[in-house]
Amino acid sequence: MVNKSMYELGAKPNKIRELFEFGKARAKVVGPENVFDYTLGNPSIPAPAIVNETAIRFLQEMDSKQLHGYTSNIGDEPARAAIAADLDQRFGCGAKASEIFITCGAAPALTAILRALAVENGEIMVIAPYFMEYKFFAEAAGEKLVEVSADIPDFQIRLEEVREKLTPNTQALILNSPNNPAGTVYTRETLEALGALLTEKGEEYGHPIYIIADEPYRELVYGDAVVPFIPNVYPNTIVCYSYSKSLSLPGERLGYVYVPGFCADSPMVYAAVAGASRGSGHVCAPSIWQKVIVECVKTRPDLESYDRNRRALYEGLKDIGYTVAKPDGAFYLFVEAPNGDGDAFLEISKQHDLLVVPGAGFGCPSYFRVCYALDYDTIIRSLPAFKAAYEEAKKEEK
Ligand code: PLP
Repeated sequence: MVNKSMYELGAKPNKIRELFEFGKARAKVVGPENVFDYTLGNPSIPAPAIVNETAIRFLQEMDSKQLHGYTSNIGDEPARAAIAADLDQRFGCGAKASEIFITCGAAPALTAILRALAVENGEIMVIAPYFMEYKFFAEAAGEKLVEVSADIPDFQIRLEEVREKLTPNTQALILNSPNNPAGTVYTRETLEALGALLTEKGEEYGHPIYIIADEPYRELVYGDAVVPFIPNVYPNTIVCYSYSKSLSLPGERLGYVYVPGFCADSPMVYAAVAGASRGSGHVCAPSIWQKVIVECVKTRPDLESYDRNRRALYEGLKDIGYTVAKPDGAFYLFVEAPNGDGDAFLEISKQHDLLVVPGAGFGCPSYFRVCYALDYDTIIRSLPAFKAAYEEAKKEEK
């Protein structure tokens, strides 16, 4: 016998994986250069040279036990201290090493905080469009996911709907800015209004309502857009961070949870994060990358190629006639399906070997997502396929 819900989750077809397989099969027929796969969110810029050089130096020079041994469960003290000092220097938040819990990326950071906050009948609010894994993480923690519909076309936050859907069971609200899939950065104005609402409702319910700030794309921001540091706007914020995208290290698994000392019940929340991680089999994050981050904590990505792709694709799609969310951050564009249905659009775009992710999984079925972490040439060559799919989809507009 197996657990039914775990079985269903594991056996369920994964749309992005299916498209990946479809793309591979088509590549054999039409050639890989003629398949435009915009589905996977894998960084296309290489990890900064200093990151690789530091890892190589450590591999060559460091004592094996020191480099490959277990680290402390909460993370090496030097790594936690370096991360805290960097946060404090950038945002003046007074972060301390004792408030950082190092994880194997943002996904385990999120699962740890969700499990740490899980109470009977607990609810977690998400703002559409949202990263589809939240649903599985929250449900596995025994929480109910409550969705606030997308604020089309600006993709900020429908505060009135948040107000209507908050209940005494609301434990936390997950915010992801810059956003996957829309590339939106929530403005300070939006965050202040949300913070005021959560403060008001928290007082009414007699317990804090936390914001879980999921920030793997914090460093991927373009033009003059500014990403407010949410704990400075609303103190009951817990940050989940990852180096997967900012240092292009998704396969190496490094991130952290930051539980600010000034957030409500901070020591208890931190201990519950440690307990939740322990309970899910977390031993420690990879030792070598914890050591590398001490030296590379100030390294930021070179965004030039993402920015070039972003501008080319955004302008290219707008010229064809598509409606696209303003892409201030991350490496995705969220595009309105010309026929009003992301799933139906995919069926058309596949005929042009153009692979996109329908918006339904993100809580926004009339849109689709494209990830522009590709090479520039592929993006330019894909525009005729976008145009052909647009014209075909327009004919069946709903
Ligand atoms: N949160 C969001 C919004 C993401 O897009 C991703 C990965 O794509 C994650 C969390 C998980 O990131 P990680 O690779 O650090 O686990």
